[in-house]
Amino acid sequence: PLRQRLLVVANRLPVSAVRKGEDSWSLEMSAGGLVSALLGVKEFEARWIGWAGVNVPDEVGQKALTKALGEKRCIPVFLDEEIVHRYYNGYCNNILWPLFHYLGLPQEDRLATTRSFQSQFEAYKKANQMFADVVHQHYEEGDVVWCHDYHLMFLPKCLKERNNNMKVGWFLHTPFPSSEIHRTLPSRSDLLRSVLAADLVGFHTYDYARHFVSACTRILGLEGTPEGVEDQGRLTRVAAFPIGIDSDRFIRALELPKVQGHINELKERFAGRKVMLGVDRLDMIKGIPQKILAFEKFLEEYPSWCDKVVLLQIAVPTRTDVPEYQKLTSQVHEIVGRINGRFGTLTAVPIHHLMCISAGNFKRLAGLRFIAEKGGRDRSLDFFALCALYAVTDVALVTSLRDGMNLVSYEFVACQDLKKGVLILSEFAGAAQSLGAGAILVNPWNITEVADSIRQALTMTPEEREKRHQHNFVHVTTHTAQEWAETFVSELNDTVIEAQLRT
Ligand code: UDP
Repeated sequence: PLRQRLLVVANRLPVSAVRKGEDSWSLEMSAGGLVSALLGVKEFEARWIGWAGVNVPDEVGQKALTKALGEKRCIPVFLDEEIVHRYYNGYCNNILWPLFHYLGLPQEDRLATTRSFQSQFEAYKKANQMFADVVHQHYEEGDVVWCHDYHLMFLPKCLKERNNNMKVGWFLHTPFPSSEIHRTLPSRSDLLRSVLAADLVGFHTYDYARHFVSACTRILGLEGTPEGVEDQGRLTRVAAFPIGIDSDRFIRALELPKVQGHINELKERFAGRKVMLGVDRLDMIKGIPQKILAFEKFLEEYPSWCDKVVLLQIAVPTRTDVPEYQKLTSQVHEIVGRINGRFGTLTAVPIHHLMCISAGNFKRLAGLRFIAEKGGRDRSLDFFALCALYAVTDVALVTSLRDGMNLVSYEFVACQDLKKGVLILSEFAGAAQSLGAGAILVNPWNITEVADSIRQALTMTPEEREKRHQHNFVHVTTHTAQEWAETFVSELNDTVIEAQLRT
């Protein structure tokens, strides 16, 4: 039988495109979680629809890019610079991202943002309509359309308006905040109504799903049921689908000679010291300053550990043009410098803050022979180097202030089957719902608590480490990204069938 077609619509296509000439492009597939999740799904024939991340103003370039992408089953949506500025930088990253992570609007230009709400929302709707147009061009009857993330909350409505028979699902990769936060958005009702046009709406955790349902009942006055949200007899199914990783990819990587080489290098480099690891995009939501302050507190409270432990903090810069983010970067540098000055010796410093900027830069900062990936947008540390780091780590520290799921915690667990290290995990990361039993859960704002957890982790008995690791390892290797994608799509198919039966 023919496989069902799946149209995956996300803001960004899983490729980076570089223009080589008037009509030639070089493409590199990125190996993100979503990509490997869907590559693993054999049941469906997946196609991607999204923005290629480049401005292509001319028709020759657009044609050539469309053709090149077609070979990778990708279909581009062309957005011009002006719309990207207002839709992507503006409404998505300046308004929805901070709000959904309980950060409030950026302090720097609060009033300017308040003034431009409406015009940015118009651009957001317009961009979503452009995605919808491309979906309609490629849609065939029976296809499943799966919309992703906060960039495309307006898409389900645009799709259903033109074709009510289309099977439409929407999944949010960030937290959905308390309805009290969502209420503050000027476009609060429009956004909820358009998401509700989907047949199935998915979140990482029950809490996020519950927040969404409360927002619909309190703001729109609709009825929330255990199944979802009801509006005049029509049900939008709302449920939790916690994402996973392609754990095999990490486990297999550890066997490679190249990774073993990295592992040996690292072991030698940090011999005699316990290794603590943080891997985060340099984003406000990750609680990096809080993490480093907690580590300082730990060194203060337990000074005998000073020369026996090292914190490797891998920071992947994002949105480097935004003042808030620049401020965070210099703040982190400042704290790290102060702590290293305070606790460092001639031969060793307690914190290695490794910024993945470019291959050369990373090498210099790390003093390790790793190569950073070229061309990556946010993602710059080489996959094999990352696996090696995960594998040699004694204690991983995830201190997100809010985080949709946090895949770094999953990846760490996948790479720890030999070492059975300890995961310290923020209770504000979605992953706390799934890895809470094996991890030490902390409130990242409470640096005394985090400092004590560091000590607990470093002195934990092998038996307890083994038990905790086993718990999480089983979870990570059985709740994979592939299983996540299959569950969502089959639930979407079922939801549509049930709805047809009801009418
Ligand atoms: N990552 C990467 N390069 C790096 C550091 C991290 O590709 O130099 C990856 C990491 O393996 C993980 C992802 O970035 O898959 C981060 O995902 P997570 O859910 O933890 O946080 P997000 O960045 O999506 O907020």
